[in-house]
Amino acid sequence: MAHHSRARFSLRRRRRGTLYANCLLLGLILLFFIWGMALRGREQLGADVPHGSITPPVITAANPISVRIFDHELNQIVPMDLETYVCHVVAAEMPASYEMEALKAQAVAARTLASEALLEGSRSCTAGSDMCTRADHCQAYDSETACRDKWGSEYNFWWGRVTEAVAATVGVIMTYEGEPIEVFYHAVSGGRTEDVENVFSQALPYLRSVSSEGEEQEKNFQRQISYSPKDFREKIRRYFDITLPGGNLSDSVRILSYYDSGRVREVRLNNQTVTAVELRRALGLPSTQFRIIFTASSVVFDCQGYGHGVGMSQAGANVMAREGSDFRDILTHYYTGISLETIDASNVS
Ligand SMILES: [Zn+2]
Repeated sequence: MAHHSRARFSLRRRRRGTLYANCLLLGLILLFFIWGMALRGREQLGADVPHGSITPPVITAANPISVRIFDHELNQIVPMDLETYVCHVVAAEMPASYEMEALKAQAVAARTLASEALLEGSRSCTAGSDMCTRADHCQAYDSETACRDKWGSEYNFWWGRVTEAVAATVGVIMTYEGEPIEVFYHAVSGGRTEDVENVFSQALPYLRSVSSEGEEQEKNFQRQISYSPKDFREKIRRYFDITLPGGNLSDSVRILSYYDSGRVREVRLNNQTVTAVELRRALGLPSTQFRIIFTASSVVFDCQGYGHGVGMSQAGANVMAREGSDFRDILTHYYTGISLETIDASNVS
């Protein structure tokens, strides 16, 4: 009996031992799994794994330029130095997980727009300010509070990346014939950017249509926006004061012409012609590169790209950076014939 009992005891111990071994094995597998996920996450972000211990670099311009920013949220003019302003714009205008060279290109674009505003005094925001924080007027701007809200415990890491990009390009702007260029940029071109005069008013030699390859894998490359026929008619009536006749919408709505970039130029709505730029604004479409699909229960705009399509494509910049281009390559690709120059306070008086 004793022998039997000991055997049972040792059996139980062995069983428990196997359980411990299994737990250990499971733990190890789990550990490897988590490690693998972390590595994958790092690859996807194109950045190091976020942690809170990075101290953002301090940006020291030799001869700093001061700017007066009208903050729409605070409803007041906030004075700051140009490089700090550029950090807040980059944080708002481009995902901080984008490649470092793309972030640098964005920093130069944001700084160029600011320099143009300072030199030309042309923005006409609130009196006494050089620029404002509204994306649809000047450039988007995320305050420290906004950045902390969106990044949470990873704030130091992402703000660190943004300031690294700005610090690496301190004072650098794009010029054409010695003057800061008029800057436009957008999220995703859909494969090709657009000549500025096809979207805005005036032709400019450095804002020409160029190819933007490899964007297919990027976010927002293609999106479908769908309306019920009733909603669509209502929007067209309200925005253009055009009443579309009853029956099939495919009889009264049709694309008339295209630009060379592949974007739609004009659309026929009943017996009137509107530009695709106006139609995009009216419907809030992602882009003017679309085809229209009519079904029995809906009108679908199948759109490629996101934004107006002029100047740098941010997604395209990210693709170029991933494939080894630096910020100079990116900017000279999207802005034809520009030079890069460095400015400081002596240029802005
Ligand atoms: Zn403004």
